[in-house]
Amino acid sequence: MPGRQPRHTMAPGLDFADLPSLSAAVHNCRRCPLGHSRTKAVPGVGPGDARIVIVGEAPGQNEDLQGEPFVGAAGKLLDQLLRGIGLSRGDVFITNILKCRPPGNRDPQPAEAEACSPYLEQQLRLIKPEVVLVLGRHALTRLLPGYESISRLHGKVVVQDGVSYIPIYHPAAALYNSFLMGPLEQDFKAVKAHLDRVEERRQALAAAVPVQKPEEQLTLFG
Ligand code: URA
Repeated sequence: MPGRQPRHTMAPGLDFADLPSLSAAVHNCRRCPLGHSRTKAVPGVGPGDARIVIVGEAPGQNEDLQGEPFVGAAGKLLDQLLRGIGLSRGDVFITNILKCRPPGNRDPQPAEAEACSPYLEQQLRLIKPEVVLVLGRHALTRLLPGYESISRLHGKVVVQDGVSYIPIYHPAAALYNSFLMGPLEQDFKAVKAHLDRVEERRQALAAAVPVQKPEEQLTLFG
């Protein structure tokens, strides 16, 4: 059955108490050869209690120079798409499958993704997001192993361990292939619809369970 593999196996020595110690470890990481060729490692940015985590593929040239994810052309498009659904970069935690740039922006190799995977697993464990946006096929392969291709799954919600994973086309893919821009915009509409549904459910729940005021508690027990 797809997606049934254990996804949170702990690598020895990679159990972090918080995001800053995880980031420090990423900056010193030599678990694969990319740790020797990078300029700067790119652990990820955003609030530690973000409700949404965005997972891309790997840092590109700009990210490698600045140590921040999605600061190039794909990042500008991502910012624009986020704004379109009422979110800003500061509302979300952004990271990648690989924390270091593959030379020449080549695809991540399976061994690199495997070596880097404890960091993302730990980020998700620490942040505990409600929604994970899975950008492109490489992130899809790592986060939802065994699921269909991105072209079939994009814009759909896959719930695993109480977290909603939404695969969407990668903004860089839409920059290279303009025919993907429309579907990518639709994906963000699907994300917005999901977030609205979650919010409606939250409000309905809050209305259904009235919170007792302290004075009511006093009358009950006093
Ligand atoms: N920049 C990133 O940080 N990740 C990507 O996947 C693409 C560009």
